[in-house]
Amino acid sequence: MDRPFHSESVSGPRPRRLVIPALSLVLLVGPSGSGKSTFAQRHFRSTEVLSSDFFRAMITDDEADQSATREAFELLHRVAEGRLRRGRLTVIDATNTRRDARLPLIELARRYHVPCVAIIFDYPLEAYLANDQQRPGRQVGRGVIERQFAQLEENRAALVEEPFQRRYWLRSPQEAASAIVVRRPLPSDRRWWRGPFDIVGDVHGCFDELVELLEHLGYQVAEQRNRSGERQYLVAHPGGRRLVFVGDLVDRGPKIVPVLQLAMSAVARGRAAAVMGNHDRKLLRYLEGHQVRIAHGFEASVEQLAVESEEFRQRVWRFLRKLPHHLVLDEGRLVVAHAGLPAEYHGRDSPVVRRIALFGMTTGEVDERGLPIRLNWALDYRGRALVVYGHTPVTEPVWINRTINIDTGCVFGHRLTALRYPELELVSVPARHAYAAPPRRLLTPDELTQPLLLPSEELAELQGEVLVEETSAAVAGSPEFERDRAPESAAQE
Ligand code: GDP
Ligand code: MG
Repeated sequence: MDRPFHSESVSGPRPRRLVIPALSLVLLVGPSGSGKSTFAQRHFRSTEVLSSDFFRAMITDDEADQSATREAFELLHRVAEGRLRRGRLTVIDATNTRRDARLPLIELARRYHVPCVAIIFDYPLEAYLANDQQRPGRQVGRGVIERQFAQLEENRAALVEEPFQRRYWLRSPQEAASAIVVRRPLPSDRRWWRGPFDIVGDVHGCFDELVELLEHLGYQVAEQRNRSGERQYLVAHPGGRRLVFVGDLVDRGPKIVPVLQLAMSAVARGRAAAVMGNHDRKLLRYLEGHQVRIAHGFEASVEQLAVESEEFRQRVWRFLRKLPHHLVLDEGRLVVAHAGLPAEYHGRDSPVVRRIALFGMTTGEVDERGLPIRLNWALDYRGRALVVYGHTPVTEPVWINRTINIDTGCVFGHRLTALRYPELELVSVPARHAYAAPPRRLLTPDELTQPLLLPSEELAELQGEVLVEETSAAVAGSPEFERDRAPESAAQE
């Protein structure tokens, strides 16, 4: 196949890098003659690409037979749905220049909690017409292309408004021909971290207990000063074990800064991973200048961070904003999420997944004080992955259907607990003090098997606030994280 565009690009500007979440729904958008099918064939597996022309031809043996358009799209949507349900990357090769063509696809992505990406082939009209002329066999013709071109013109603003996680505007056939597609695992995807792990429950600034627990688990913890004289803690395990924090490193407790220093350097060195807890998220929002309610022990974080340098607060901000909302580890056999996560959300990414992972499931009802009633999702959990979480303090961890809550309320004077994986042994150390009064008493094993959990004040505070999609900034990790992540794969192996 001759590729004149390709050879032109050799001397041209640097190729565009299109970063595509490895699980996403990709909409190619552009009139006939954009080069959508050519682009799709070059960068994606044939089974990943759902083309309206292909489905028309499947029914009629003629990809141009417009009488089959409605059925072709029904089939295309059916196949797209099957793929997204299974968590397979899906590319839609259709003009998608009209909003009513895009919306059902965006809705499918929303329903299966998969990010949506638009690649827009946005050229001068003549470029589409010239491509159409070159097309072997059938030409679509000027009239159709002019109409689709007008639709694209009218749809620019709509494309910006629609909830795409990323939009790539390609401005010339040359730019499209030379573009590179890079697949990036979702932030939650750490399947290639095989363990062994030590998963640590809600720390809430309980540094002394954390260090004691780590030493129990066989970690060496060394204190150091970095170049700017700031304290740092180096954590290593002679057996190569890694830590996973279930979130809520901050708030309530006495030594939030050292906890952050330890966790931040362990994560940066690839010795630990952490998921975001609702308290971590609140601190992140505070550091970003949002109004947050100073309650539930948040004042401790504010006070303890106030005496630190601006540079340190910046580093905390950069750390927090990169925390994934949940983690899928060990080839999918282990999931860590702050408030737990039902199976259908594992490895997926949407505002709903984020809310559930950080705050828990709700029934949709509220109690007499207007607080959302929480659903004990673990009772219905039938997934294969083990789910380890925290968030709701318990007097002792209990396995419920391959899920376990290891928040044993250290900051309230109880214990700090870790789960060793794959051994599934619990290790805990007692709290040295009750640093904060619990908003409600710790749940007993009996209460843990009730279908409803106590209402959530944090969720009431969240109200209608949407947990926004992670931006490209948030998924582009630190150099250390990048080094440690799975290799990004070029689109076509
Ligand atoms: P679609 O209608 O948007 O799917 O566009 P196609 O991918 O079918 O491309 C239409 C025509 O544009 C093709 O027949 C090619 O002649 C030309 N074309 C598109 N992309 C390229 C490319 O990268 N290199 C070359 N040589 N031609 C291209
Ligand atoms: Mg095509």
